[in-house]
Amino acid sequence: MSAPTPVVIVGGGIAGLTAALAAAPAPVLLLNRARGAEHAASALAQGGIAAAVGTDDTPQAHARDTCDAGSHRNDRAMVDVLTEGAPAAIEWLQWQGVAFDRDEGGALRLGREGGHDRPRIVHAGGDATGAKVMEALVAVARRSPHIERRAGVDVDGLVLRDGRVCGVCVTNPDGTREALHGRAVVLATGGIGGLFAQTSNPPDADGSGLALALAAGAAMRDLEFVQFHPTALALPGLHSLPLVTEALRGAGARLLDADGNSLMDGLHPLADLAPRDIVARRVWRACREGGAWLDAHRIGAAFPSQFPTVFRACMERGIDPRVQPIPVAPAAHFHMGGIKVDADGRTSLPGLHAVGEVACNGVHGANRLASNSLLEGVVFGRRLGRLLRVLPESGNEHGRFTLVRRKPSLDAASLAGLRELMMRAMGPVREGEALRPALEECAALAELGWQGGLARAMVEAALRRTESLGAHFRLD
Ligand SMILES: Cc1cc2nc3c(=O)[nH]c(=O)nc-3n(C[C@H](O)[C@H](O)[C@H](O)COP(=O)(O)OP(=O)(O)OC[C@H]3O[C@@H](n4cnc5c(N)ncnc54)[C@H](O)[C@@H]3O)c2cc1C
Repeated sequence: MSAPTPVVIVGGGIAGLTAALAAAPAPVLLLNRARGAEHAASALAQGGIAAAVGTDDTPQAHARDTCDAGSHRNDRAMVDVLTEGAPAAIEWLQWQGVAFDRDEGGALRLGREGGHDRPRIVHAGGDATGAKVMEALVAVARRSPHIERRAGVDVDGLVLRDGRVCGVCVTNPDGTREALHGRAVVLATGGIGGLFAQTSNPPDADGSGLALALAAGAAMRDLEFVQFHPTALALPGLHSLPLVTEALRGAGARLLDADGNSLMDGLHPLADLAPRDIVARRVWRACREGGAWLDAHRIGAAFPSQFPTVFRACMERGIDPRVQPIPVAPAAHFHMGGIKVDADGRTSLPGLHAVGEVACNGVHGANRLASNSLLEGVVFGRRLGRLLRVLPESGNEHGRFTLVRRKPSLDAASLAGLRELMMRAMGPVREGEALRPALEECAALAELGWQGGLARAMVEAALRRTESLGAHFRLD
């Protein structure tokens, strides 16, 4: 009897790794550009993971906050799956070896973040939660006999047989190309920050998986909803910017304009702690009028121990945040939209599944609640893994094969132009007057490279939504 065909999973972030581990004992071929956790957004997560694990908390309260943040555009059934599955997800991560921070009594230490009505965020290693979680999951995946890992490969095509996705095309590190067969294919390729001039995402979050599904004709959902983080470290000429966590404002840091005036006083009752999209729009405007800074001097000597990641990022660039204001700018942070999927990651194309940030099941609505996306990767990754475990062989050995390949990448100059265009037209503040010409430019760029086609689909979705909703703010 021949060996069973593996499931091909593309992407080794939290979503891809979780799906791969949960699929055991079904064989999995895990394809990733990077060897380990590097280049995955998952490893950069500073805030933590939300779950109703506190004694006074409930999944219903977590669901309420999730829907409030999402402007109630959320798919309520998906929200319930997420919040009811959250405590078990935390337990599962602990079985995988993640050591979450605990208080002196041994209970999980719970933090509070914007949009949550009570402390519900678990951390590992303080602001290094993503790195710690990824370290544990990569280690378990390395030990798991059912997972074969291949690193350094770029997945740039899908193989279909009689309309069913049954494999991928890859470009190897030495430039050779090959097709790899799978009983099903899972896209877990992360977000699209790379399409914007300023992003908090790592360079690998370029939207390539989303573009591939789009090229193959998979249904998309909510592509216009992009969350902007209000405070990335503004470094001229840099595209992938280090994040300056919101927790700094929670600890007393204040946003200032070029003249040292408060940006947020009088704009919202919560001032510097107003919802993320409101702060992002204010910082966006200030950046166009001379700049925005975060004055964190009040944190003083505690800065290095309380916020080691931000401290390191600033000091490496010659900014001592204990005494100097930190230059900040909004950055594309999280894509609520993506490949349309159901609760088990099925897309509209037979044989193709998606999970994590590249997918959209409606759980985040029009805006994501802080610390809900690592959770999404674990809860829906485990569900998908359970489905993959029992997936039959795809059958029909003699069907007709077709290949769907991504177009080549835009050249560096065109890509830089597209990123500026997306930041201008699809940034925290949007209007028809900017979106319409942007659509034309994207259509022209779509002839030259795959990023243009993906950007065009996102701009089209933004033009269709004429009202402001969640992270999609229309000036007109
Ligand atoms: C700075 C930052 C801080 C954040 N903080 C938090 C937080 O505190 N809490 C929270 O819940 N969320 C946070 N988020 C969001 C969260 O980290 C992401 O939404 C989540 O990690 C996405 O996981 P993923 O597995 O879908 O994608 P990723 O972790 O990005 O993994 C995708 C993987 O796919 C690979 N890949 C991509 N394209 C291809 C291709 N064509 N071929 C082969 N491989 C490919 C990439 O190399 C990468 O390894 C943060 C995000 C950022 C950027």
